[in-house]
Amino acid sequence: MFYLVLALAYVNLLTVRAQSSPPSSAPSAQSSVGSAVGSAAPTSSGAVTSALPPPATTFSFSLQSTNPTAAPLSEIVSGAPLSATQPLASTASPGATPSSIPNAPPLPDPATLNPAAYPPLDRPPPVDSPEVQQWKQEVANSGITIPGFEPTVAGGCPANPGPVADASRCWWTCGGCTRESDVTNCPDQMTWGLTYDDGPANYTSNLLQYLDQANLKSTFFVVGSRVISFPRTLQLQYLTGHQIAVHTWSHPPLTTLSNDEIIAELGWSRKAIKDVLGVTPNMMRPPFGDIDDRVRAISVAMGLTPVLWTRISPLATFDTDDFNIAGGIASVQQVLHNWEDIVGNATTMNSGFIVLEHDLFQQSVEVATGYILPDALAHQPAFRIEPVISCLNKPLGDAYVETNDNATNPPIGGGAGHTTAVVTLASGAPGSASATGAASNTNSGVSFAPSPLAFVAAAGLLLVAFA
Ligand SMILES: [Zn+2]
Repeated sequence: MFYLVLALAYVNLLTVRAQSSPPSSAPSAQSSVGSAVGSAAPTSSGAVTSALPPPATTFSFSLQSTNPTAAPLSEIVSGAPLSATQPLASTASPGATPSSIPNAPPLPDPATLNPAAYPPLDRPPPVDSPEVQQWKQEVANSGITIPGFEPTVAGGCPANPGPVADASRCWWTCGGCTRESDVTNCPDQMTWGLTYDDGPANYTSNLLQYLDQANLKSTFFVVGSRVISFPRTLQLQYLTGHQIAVHTWSHPPLTTLSNDEIIAELGWSRKAIKDVLGVTPNMMRPPFGDIDDRVRAISVAMGLTPVLWTRISPLATFDTDDFNIAGGIASVQQVLHNWEDIVGNATTMNSGFIVLEHDLFQQSVEVATGYILPDALAHQPAFRIEPVISCLNKPLGDAYVETNDNATNPPIGGGAGHTTAVVTLASGAPGSASATGAASNTNSGVSFAPSPLAFVAAAGLLLVAFA
């Protein structure tokens, strides 16, 4: 049963990989499997050229330090036997508050959480519920104009030549365009805004144990469905000083959805977090980094600041590709090679940086705790490693609506409890807009997921297998 499940998950992970359009940070990754497929264009005769370079199988990297208890690299592979999960360090008590947020409301009792009160897990929520109607009204009340773009179609940049060519959409996935509303790096040099996506899940506890021992705090962009499945993990993350932020309910590529569907995805994830923690997050990361001005405007209207990851050129995005070890798309050596490139770029930047990593799968947690984080901690000069809200030089309480200091950190857009629109979507980051276009999407040869449920199937099946 388990192998069947993994095989199914693998197939689905292939499509997830294809949705992750921003290319790898590593120039040499051009010889990786994905790009090799991309270069296999039909010749004029219709045949596939036979002069393709062979896919690279080795990737060089050097690390300044590793964890003595790290899983060997040979064991961080797709289909690896399940490793042990650490028990949660402690169980949060109802009524507790995080010491790092002095004015936080008391922690709800997770025993009162009723999963039946939420949409089916890992599926797009219906848009006709009273909750979604309320959130639509919230968006309307924000006063923010939602652009009238049609949703993109499944297939990413190659399948959407019109939206790609339309610079006014500012579609980050296809060209790297950002706006002033977006957080893509940390302002201070040598500062790493640490983030993990797609949890909480089985191996999040292992990551938390390492972070605790190393006295590190992170931002976790959590999937609402996973919050319902792992409420005690989320409570521990929050109580121990990590930042919690929105990563949708079922992890679809948001530009493919209607306005109502986007509102439902963000709203249910935000509500799940609020119900479990007692506070409402005010940051979000779009799955696959898939954001354009329509998704931005809705996010901002719901009080959610978009957080992406650093991208200094089409071939230097700060994506470790750790997500794809589990699916057999990327090797751990490739991921560490990507990491070395990220470090090299980070140390030459005038600002700090944000890296894409994940805590959904065992393999990505093992590469983080065994290799990436120990290497980062040993780096000289030292990196300052902290949650995104902290790297923006704001107190942790400013990450939540209820504890935000509105005097010093005006809420973005509308959002729960706010009606003042304060954001503009003016073009922002230098070098980010239309100068880069569709050609920058080096994954163009990979077929894209036919359905936003690809991630759902992968994550859901694995969780079933673990249960
Ligand atoms: Zn994700």
